[in-house]
Amino acid sequence: MNAVDAVHQQFEKAADLLGLDAKARRRLLTATREIKAECTISRDDGSEETFVAFRVQHDSSRGPCKGGIRFHPGVDADEVNALAALMTWKTAVAGLPFGGAKGGVACDPATLSRAELQRLTRTYVERVHDAIGPYKDIPAPDMGTNAEVMGWIADEYSKYYGWAPAVVTGKPLELGGSLGRDAATGLGLLYAAERWFEDYGAKIGDFTYAVQGFGNVGSHAARLFHESGGRVVAVSNSKNTVVNQRGIDVPALIEHVRKTRSFANFGGGELRDSAALLSVPCDVLVPAALGGVLTKETASKVCARFILEGANHPTDPEADAIFARQGVLALPDIYANSGGVTVSYFEWVQNIQQYPWDEDRVNQELRKRMRAAYDDLAAAARKYSCDLRTAAFAIAVERVHRATLARGL
Ligand code: NAD
Repeated sequence: MNAVDAVHQQFEKAADLLGLDAKARRRLLTATREIKAECTISRDDGSEETFVAFRVQHDSSRGPCKGGIRFHPGVDADEVNALAALMTWKTAVAGLPFGGAKGGVACDPATLSRAELQRLTRTYVERVHDAIGPYKDIPAPDMGTNAEVMGWIADEYSKYYGWAPAVVTGKPLELGGSLGRDAATGLGLLYAAERWFEDYGAKIGDFTYAVQGFGNVGSHAARLFHESGGRVVAVSNSKNTVVNQRGIDVPALIEHVRKTRSFANFGGGELRDSAALLSVPCDVLVPAALGGVLTKETASKVCARFILEGANHPTDPEADAIFARQGVLALPDIYANSGGVTVSYFEWVQNIQQYPWDEDRVNQELRKRMRAAYDDLAAAARKYSCDLRTAAFAIAVERVHRATLARGL
């Protein structure tokens, strides 16, 4: 089942629990505004090329819309719509005063020069500048975009409205980006796990971990579990898995990957293929790479007791059903990986207050919010006698529904 159908199914399950009627469901599911725009740029060789771009604002009843901009060949209206709705639910479950949005340009950034990417980004802002803004809709990085692209967005926007860094998050530090943003999703996972395990009378150091993906989320998460006394027994990237049941020296592996861009020739573990990660014996499996990796085919190979979802939509509903039968517990993505958007919120707050926070404050506030959101999740799971994923959607849908009603809509 693809991510769009799975999210829709979760929404309906939550709406059933809340007893929402058909009109309320339709209102909550329908995007507020969808923009489709043409972006024509000059290529470096003097030729012209036209790209199709999108910005979908799904819901703004709880605050300005928030969501990334993706530069990827697969971007289309359906995908952007589904991802925008997911942001509505994620910001609601994390308790952030935002709605949900997503944007994208159907392009392959690997085939564009830096100058072409900059022209494309500025043209995109020309098309959407009147729809975005610090109190309207705040973009952020996503696949194919990064802090540099966010800096260009802030600059282009300033040509229309003056300097307003809160229009976009994930910016370079020099332009008002937040300390701690880089590690935020991994650190959020650590704080979420710490609180989750307390309910089982356990702590991070009591368990072994297998982390799929060694990019932004996976490498920070693996390092933080290691530093907190957890034993990381396996990590993977798109090519290989490193396994060491005595524990991988994660900082040494990070250094090795920094120097060689590969796991090959790392002395601190046995090298296997990438797919081997899911079946490595461990207590906690942390999918932190692609969506859709835990399916009815792979779920039965998993030996872990806990699944901590760093990636977006790593587990499809059929795998969820298998885990439920096997007693494997999952902490759902819309809560577990919300550390990134939470620190984006802190960046927005710092920009509006024109008062940068030090990194300790960022991390302390993140911990406080991750713990509070978990308490809400656990209370909803008790109230509705359901799993944490269903509880997360129930909280999110109820918060957005109540805000809609409170506005008199
Ligand atoms: P990234 O591009 O930095 O890293 C991705 C990693 O996954 C790389 O190490 C890559 O080698 C690895 N990978 C790719 N295919 C793989 C495979 N088949 N098996 C094992 N590893 C594989 O991406 P990221 O920013 O770390 O994001 C990872 C996931 O977390 C994505 O699902 C993303 O949507 C989600 N996410 C990211 C953030 C964030 O702040 N970066 C926030 C929320 C959710």
